[in-house]
Amino acid sequence: MISVDEAKKIIIENVHPLEPVQVHFQDALGFCLAEEVLSDIDMPPFNRSAMDGYAVVAEDTIVAPVILKIIENIAAGGMPEKKVSRGCVSKIMTGASVPEGADAVVKFEDTEDTEDESRVKIVKSVKGGSNISKRGEDMKVGQIVLHAGMPVRPQEIGILATVGKSKVKIYPAPTVGIISTGNELVNVEEKPSSVQIRNSNSYSLASQARRMNTAVEIFGIVRDRKEEIVREIKKGLQKDILILSGGVSMGEYDLVGDVLKELGVCIYFEKVALRPGKPVIFGKKDKTWIFALPGNPVASLVTFELFIYPAIRKLMGFSSLNRIVVKAVLKTDVSTKRKRREFRPAVYQWKESELSASPVEWHGSADLLATTKANCLLIIPEEVEKLSKGQLVDIILLDNNY
Ligand code: AMP
Ligand code: MG
Repeated sequence: MISVDEAKKIIIENVHPLEPVQVHFQDALGFCLAEEVLSDIDMPPFNRSAMDGYAVVAEDTIVAPVILKIIENIAAGGMPEKKVSRGCVSKIMTGASVPEGADAVVKFEDTEDTEDESRVKIVKSVKGGSNISKRGEDMKVGQIVLHAGMPVRPQEIGILATVGKSKVKIYPAPTVGIISTGNELVNVEEKPSSVQIRNSNSYSLASQARRMNTAVEIFGIVRDRKEEIVREIKKGLQKDILILSGGVSMGEYDLVGDVLKELGVCIYFEKVALRPGKPVIFGKKDKTWIFALPGNPVASLVTFELFIYPAIRKLMGFSSLNRIVVKAVLKTDVSTKRKRREFRPAVYQWKESELSASPVEWHGSADLLATTKANCLLIIPEEVEKLSKGQLVDIILLDNNY
């Protein structure tokens, strides 16, 4: 049995980003760039007014208040036609090109109208350069504006638009297949008998994968029979990631481990010292990464976040692979059985400048409903016997990406 950290290390060291693909820039949201992006323009493309006001020769305003002559009116997108010289100003709008000769813009609020419409009173002096964004101050032609490996968020989409990069290379998301095993499982539409339960894992796992932008196919439920499991796994091997749920423990009907070995899957590990979810198999066959998770719904949820989440992030080219861990003040005493690192569904809140967390009440790793009240996982380290109220603990935030 290996530790959680060792298991993660094995995954991260072996999984590598998928071959980049080119997409329309709007479809890059949530993915990582697989190329450097250069600007084809200076930004701003001209000396640009940052205010509505008057373009002036700054020296004219030293003696403010001063009355100056208006020679032109320049709107954004309009080309200035007149040169500003001493004693003259051009009325100018935000985003417009500053005319030749002017070296500052006085904002409207620092001016007053005069009886003569062709003249304006400047009431406050400005320094040279005031309220002008210099050509190329944000970016220059040929400058690398976005780097390979950067996650694409709305602001990166805006930069791609700014520099006219309508097609861009990204690392794609893996395709994911999901198989649930278990004689007791029935489909969602069916009413379970007294010894059956509905298959929920296929859908919670699919949702965990889908919210990472992957394309997921849910394969059917398979019975705990080798031929059925083999048949479905063979279908699943067209995917980049194949997730199996159930059938990985020590029971008589837990056949998944044997089947994977018989199929020639290269197994990297099959037991991890954690709670819930000790039996977790990680392997590879051809191009497909295989994860076989325990069937208990909370174990399935937790092991996805711990092991499949970083694998998908790595395949997608991200450099931050794990969910965010932060420190919070524990609100209640928590006891544990030690030896294995434990992940307890918990709820955190930010109140009165303090981040605090407490585990939600739950009945163990089958109690999926308890997790609907949770928004994080409390980490209980292997070596501790008890966590005490008031102490700082690590929590894994579950519902935020990037
Ligand atoms: P297993 O890992 O196959 O021993 O299953 C452990 C527990 O999880 C059993 O109580 C199963 O009924 C339950 N379980 C297994 N697969 C699923 C599933 N797909 N959806 C919901 N519960 C499941
Ligand atoms: Mg089973």
